[in-house]
Amino acid sequence: MDPIKTEIVVVGAGPGGYAAAFYAADLGKKVILVERDKRLGGVCLNQGCIPSKALLHAAHTITSARESERRGILFAAPSIDVAKLRTWKESILTRLAGGIAQLAKMRGVQVMQGRGYFEDSRTLRVETGQGQQFVKYDHAIIAVGSKAAMPRDFDLGNPRVMTSTEALEVEDIPDNLLVIGGGYIGMELGTVYATLGSKVVLLEALDSILAGADPDLARPIIAYAEKAFKEVRLKSRVGRMSTSGKQIKVQSETDGQNKEELYDRVLVAVGRAPNAEDLGLENTRVSFDEKGFIHVNEKQQTTDPAIYAIGDIAGGVLLAHKAAKEGRIAVEVIVGEQSAFVDVTIPAVVFTDPEVAWCGLTEAEAKAKGIAAQVSKFPWAASGRALSFDRPEGLTKLIIDPDSERILGVGIVGQGAGELIAEGVLAIEMGATAKDLALAVHPHPTLSETLMEAAEAFYGHATHTMVRRRLE
Ligand code: NAD
Repeated sequence: MDPIKTEIVVVGAGPGGYAAAFYAADLGKKVILVERDKRLGGVCLNQGCIPSKALLHAAHTITSARESERRGILFAAPSIDVAKLRTWKESILTRLAGGIAQLAKMRGVQVMQGRGYFEDSRTLRVETGQGQQFVKYDHAIIAVGSKAAMPRDFDLGNPRVMTSTEALEVEDIPDNLLVIGGGYIGMELGTVYATLGSKVVLLEALDSILAGADPDLARPIIAYAEKAFKEVRLKSRVGRMSTSGKQIKVQSETDGQNKEELYDRVLVAVGRAPNAEDLGLENTRVSFDEKGFIHVNEKQQTTDPAIYAIGDIAGGVLLAHKAAKEGRIAVEVIVGEQSAFVDVTIPAVVFTDPEVAWCGLTEAEAKAKGIAAQVSKFPWAASGRALSFDRPEGLTKLIIDPDSERILGVGIVGQGAGELIAEGVLAIEMGATAKDLALAVHPHPTLSETLMEAAEAFYGHATHTMVRRRLE
């Protein structure tokens, strides 16, 4: 079969890859999008961001019903039809993936289902269901993503030891679940299973869960986990795991104390590894580090002039919106625009209960790097909106340059923090000062006022909280 010629081939149709392919097509390029899975959307849509958010929504319904008792509204204990929950979750994924396929078609992006393998710097071989197809391209964008890391000691080949992919399938609701890792996935899926009724023990190697978040932002999440989980064990490590009948025997160590316990299921959430193998990178000039993350510069160019890399495979923070941004940058560079990943603010959101979100400089980073920064906070206990939905444990804080008064960072913990953080991203991207946030009228009663009031607090006059007047 003759090779197909295209201007751009994108390998991987996750949120980075399809965003890049669509943008390139919108800019008039001939684009082929190669995806090994039947469904477009990548891990984020199919085994990550979207299904986890659907399950978290279901979990929040249960929590809200439970909490409403103290407001005088009593519901019966939930009865959970796991099969129906799975079907509902699946319907969302089908709908979204179908939408992406439709958008690709309307843009004239040719989707090729199959595994991509680089034969050389300008040729991709695609193993499709109908045999091999060769694609000759001017530029390739690698967007093949990452997979859940599974340390060899934990890999028993027993389906009861799960990664996030299997956990999101909700095969059943185990009585006892061990979650290894108190990062994004451990906390989000721990929340789902604990709410559905599992006794969750969470084991984290470090001395805090969500180590990337400032301690004051992590505090309400820790308080939640201590209440909702059976146990949170910090500074703990799993030594050995083995199959024991229908359970998993786990040996762990905390502060020199060894324990041996049985669990119905184990969720391993200790980070992610790049999908670097079987790509044929050795046939190109693309270089990568010892873990398999591809080296790129700020233009998303690899060490091979025809090949770009974006998203998880290019390292850095492993977040869908960072991949999408990098995809746009790669396309702009390919079409000859001056574009680079410089001073880009990438927000982080952990969809726990409550949510925690931050962007720009964190307080811990400012301290560690010796950056002069003033922190201005507004506690949600003083927000009428937060009190009206009975969740006053939140906090909004701004990290401000004391001289220019520019917003350097924003951190928020509380219900809906993931939505609110977007204002912080815009403030940082626009070079806004605390005055800009303080002067912009925010609607009442909303949580967005907490950003305005945190900015007002910087000047010593937030209406709903007393702050010592700032020394001039
Ligand atoms: P993570 O890096 O967020 O957390 C892993 C945690 O496991 C860390 O706290 C680490 O100290 C701990 N750990 C590592 N080895 C351990 C061991 N042997 N025993 C006990 N603890 C151990 O990784 P993750 O939760 O697996 O998530 C992977 C990535 O996926 C994240 O980095 C994130 O970028 C992405 N993700 C994002 C979201 C979101 O944006 N809301 C949600 C899920 C995943």
